[in-house]
Amino acid sequence: MDASYQLIDRFLRQHPGFICTDCLATAVGVPASQVSMATQRLRQDQRFAWKIGVCSRCSAERTVIRAA
Ligand SMILES: [Zn+2]
Repeated sequence: MDASYQLIDRFLRQHPGFICTDCLATAVGVPASQVSMATQRLRQDQRFAWKIGVCSRCSAERTVIRAA
């Protein structure tokens, strides 16, 4: 696992609620391009849930993730 993946993993487990990748990038201080690479792997991970929904931070409707 790379550093950005670990940051995202930890953030999601500490902050319940659905969040979009843009807000996730801001929250963990990782460039959006790295977040999207890490989320490709998060999608394979059964510990996280994905849906099209409303982000708890920016209220935009888009693909959001949370720790399952
Ligand atoms: Zn958001």
